[in-house]
Formats: sequence, structure tokens, C-alpha cells
Amino acid sequence: MRQLLLRSAVLACLLLTGARLSAAELLSDLHSPAASEARLKRDITYLASDELEGRGVTTRGIKLAADYIAAEFKKAGLKPAGEDGSYFQPFSMAGSVLIEPASLKLLGPEGQKVELKPGTHFQPQGVSSSGQVSGPIVFAGYGITSKDPEIDEYAGLNVSGKVVVILRDTFRADNRFTVNPNWRRKYASLPEKMTNAVAHKAAAILLVNDRDTAKDGDDLLNFGYYAGAGGSLLRLPEIPLLHVRRAVVEKMLGAKLEDIERDIDHDLKPRSRELTGWSASADVSVWRAKNALKLKNVVGVLEGSGPLADETVVLGAHYDHVGYGGANSLADLKTMAIHHGADDNGSGTTSILELARRFGAVPKREGRRLVFMTFSAEESGLFGSEAYCKDPLFPLDKTAAMINLDMVGRLTKDKDSGKDRLTVYGTGTAKTFDALIEALNKKYDFQLKKVPTGMGPSDQMTFYEKKVPVFFFFTNDHADYHRPSDTSDKINVPGMRRIVDLTEELAAHLATAARPEYVKVAGPSLGGGDGPRLGIRPDYGDAKEGVLLNGVIDGAAASRAGLKEGDRIVEIAGQPVKSLEGYMAVMHAQKPGSTIDVAVLRDKEKKLFKVKLD
Ligand SMILES: [Zn+2]
Repeated sequence: MRQLLLRSAVLACLLLTGARLSAAELLSDLHSPAASEARLKRDITYLASDELEGRGVTTRGIKLAADYIAAEFKKAGLKPAGEDGSYFQPFSMAGSVLIEPASLKLLGPEGQKVELKPGTHFQPQGVSSSGQVSGPIVFAGYGITSKDPEIDEYAGLNVSGKVVVILRDTFRADNRFTVNPNWRRKYASLPEKMTNAVAHKAAAILLVNDRDTAKDGDDLLNFGYYAGAGGSLLRLPEIPLLHVRRAVVEKMLGAKLEDIERDIDHDLKPRSRELTGWSASADVSVWRAKNALKLKNVVGVLEGSGPLADETVVLGAHYDHVGYGGANSLADLKTMAIHHGADDNGSGTTSILELARRFGAVPKREGRRLVFMTFSAEESGLFGSEAYCKDPLFPLDKTAAMINLDMVGRLTKDKDSGKDRLTVYGTGTAKTFDALIEALNKKYDFQLKKVPTGMGPSDQMTFYEKKVPVFFFFTNDHADYHRPSDTSDKINVPGMRRIVDLTEELAAHLATAARPEYVKVAGPSLGGGDGPRLGIRPDYGDAKEGVLLNGVIDGAAASRAGLKEGDRIVEIAGQPVKSLEGYMAVMHAQKPGSTIDVAVLRDKEKKLFKVKLD
């Protein structure tokens, strides 16, 4: 009540005087919508800026983000809850670290000695193993040995103990004679190229951009580009791999790579050969291990008071994103590009900061302790929340609830009802939660899409698995998801503020209400899902029967079969599909490689598609 009075008083004052608040005033007033939105805007603009490098787990940007969050927690009056009186809870994940600068030297047939410069002429790669090797150089095209189409770029070549030069991607990569997307995905991948090189006993790989990748500049990938790929790195074969510039290779070849690429494209015949007289020595020193990457959650706490003071409510959001791209990017890029991650999850992070400020200003708050937490390494596999739940700073059996905000920056209106669409997971995870969110929403009038389970692709899932009731707010998927174009200018800041307002009331309630009783929701989760995939982008906020498509992923099964944005899947393999959960269950039962019928509603007409699953 007091809050409301305060809010309207500030508004009235604004309206009466017509005066514009100074920047300092905007940033000091906690509850005026304009001031709140100014802070949200400022925070998200910084977190999603180029300087923060997409907050990838191997970037300097993620450290800047952690420092920023900690500083804002401090300003808000939160107590540090981390290690050694800091706001940081350290943990590690699998990855690769470059121990010292790599070296690469070339020796030519006429006694040339070329010492290449790291960062300028070459870059060791995050997929590389350590190694000190030297040997003659052999060009092996794209490094492909394939049955269909039949081509072996190692045929007749002795690469044992030698250094192979390999082009990125595949021949006919993106022209109209391209083999097919699955084939290309397999043979363009570095693990495949590395495995094949090792099978032929090569000692090291010099990787070079194909002409398509190099068309806007022959840029080298940083070591960090692949170094954050997590556990998959540990399964790679042992072979040093360095990315080198095309000009370096062309000098040794005495030919233009472009001509060679075109020739291979033309007749699919290998153009592999020894680079007579040339040899290389390379030295790479990396640490590739289960715990190589040092990361941290940022945690601040506001103690409550009274009989519930030893219990906890967690308000969380992950602050990492996918950095420069790599495996978690959906942009299908072969070069580095900052994936800004404004919505994912700059939006949740800034919302947590704003909530910290608002609660931080409440003196002698009655009720449970509030723990504000931003997680790292969510995108790599929920590692930050896992680290917390494995080693909780406040006991989980005394944690009454967890609220997670992940992608809350794209609030949009429903076309029919005109209401803002908000998806809420976890409404069935405690007996009282459904009624609670409905009651709170009376004031906000969001069009809620309620998902009872707490299982879903973000950090609340980790808490839910530990029997903590959860809420997870989400404003739905969009075309910029996991792409460089998820930028702060596209954020609906007033919408985000409305979600912060709702979350504030929800948290205030959960801090004082009777302890919510945990419920295990049966049924399939929307989480991982290990069945075959159609390659669709479902509209998570859609509340009608079936699965509405926000889009399809280029080259994947649905797109190849002709499904498109706006289609509503109503039947798969003869079984009715009523909801996303139902869709997941039906898909789970399908076999990869099989062809199934998918019925969709398009312009109110039912259409049948034959879809060959990947
Ligand atoms: Zn994400």
C-alpha cells in the first residue's frame, strides 16, 4: 500500500511540474516507473555492450560483468555471501586454457625461415591438444574421407608424422550443389577433421579458412572461441591444431587457394599434395581438463527478521551468454561475432539488480532471507546453478522457493487479446503456486501461459530437482535468440519493469507466507529432450491447442519438409498434439532417420507434411 502511494505521488509530481528529472534523481528514486526503467536501461545497455564480449565463459567480458553485478549489489546494501567476504562463489567447468603463447615456424625449400606471429599469422585453437611437433607439410584439402559422395582427400598421401594443412568447412559448402546439410554438418566439424587426421597419423593440423569464410577478411579465431565448449573438449583426439592465414598457406602452395577450392568443387577430385621442401615446427601448451575454466556465481544477501529469518528465498538469473558464438550459436557463422545476449540473459540479470535495490532499501524487513544470485555457465549446461546446489551457501532444505528470470526482455502483446504475454513455469511445483500467481496477476493483467512443471531449460530446474518449489518467468523465444542480433535496443524496458514489479510482489509474499509445499509434477519436461528433433522454434507463450511455430531452423528437418513460421502442429505420426509437453512426448518416441507425418494448420487449413527426421 505504501509503495503504491509513493508511486502515484511521484507520478503526480512529474505531471504537475512537467519538470524533467535529472539523471541523478532518475537513478535514486526506487519506485517511479521512469526511474526504474532508466536504471534497467542503463544496466542492460552495459551488460550487452561490445565491451562485455557476449559474456562468454572464456572472455574478459564475463569478469567485467561479475564485477559490475557485485558493485551494484554492494550499492544496494546487500551483504556479500561468497568466498572470503566477496560476492563471488567460485566453481570450475571443463574447458581448455592456453598456458603459454604458442609458436609456429616454417622452413622453406630454399632455406627460408619464417617465424610466424601468434594473433597475426596464426592462432592456436581451443580444440587443440598440447604438443611439440615438427615435420614436413602436406596439403589435404578439406581433410575429408567420405563414402557418399565418395572422396578421400588422404588417398595416396603419406601424412604419418607430418603436419597437414586442412581447409575449414567442406567443398561445395553453400552453393546449389551442396551435398546435404547433415553431411556438411558432419564433415565441416573440427572433431571429424581431427579424428580423420589422427586416423592417418598426422602430427598436427594447420587449419585455414575456406574462401567463403574468408570473403569479408581472413580473420583468425581466438583460442577462446572453442575453449569454452565444456566436456566435449575432453573427448577430442590428441592433436595440436593451429589456425593459419590463407596467405601463409598460399606462399607454400605457390598457388591460390581459391583456385584449388574451385577445382575440387568442380569435379570432387582431391587436390591434396606434399608441399615439397616445406616443414613446420609447432609448440602448443594447453591445459584441457574437467576443471580448467574458473568461473563464479555472484551472490548477495539481505537478511530477514522474525521467526522465518533462518529460511531463504532465492532470486536468480544467469549472467553468462555465448560470447563470440561457437557451438551454442544459432547464427551459423564461421567467424567470431559478439552475441550480445541482451534478452538472454542481460534482461534477467538487470531485473535481479533492480530487485536487489528495491529490497535493499527496505529497513528491518520481516520474514525470510532473500538471496540474490546471478549464475555463470548456464548456457554451457546450468553449471553455475549446479555448483550452488551442490555446495549451497544457505541450506536447500531451508530454502522455501526459488524465482528464476531468464529472457524477460521481450514482452509482447497477444494479437487477439491485446494483453502482454508472460510464460510462467513452475505453477504446479507447490500446492499454492497456481492460485498465488493468478491472484498477483489480477493487478498486472498479463496473459499468463502457465507451465506446471519446474523442469525447463534454465537454472530453476537445478533447484527444482533438489525439491525447492520454483517460478520461472520468460517472455518467449524470438528470431534473435542466440544470435549476435540479441541487442539492448530491442529490449522492451517498460515491459521488463512490469515483470520486476510483479516479481517484487511475489518475492515479498514468498518471504513471509507459510512455507510452500513442494510438489513433484509428473510428465515430460521441456528441458533437454533426447529424442529426434524437428528443428522448430515453438512459440512458448502460445496458449491455444497444438504447437505454434515462431520459426523453423534453416536446413533442419521441419524446414526441409516445408514447414514455416505461423504453422500450428496439431498431429505427429498420427497422434494428436495438444501442447508443447505433448509434442515433446510424441517426438521422444520417434526414431532418428525415420520419416513421419506432421499435420499442421496453415491459414485454417489442415496440411500434411512428410518429415524425414535427423
Ligand atoms: Zn540462452
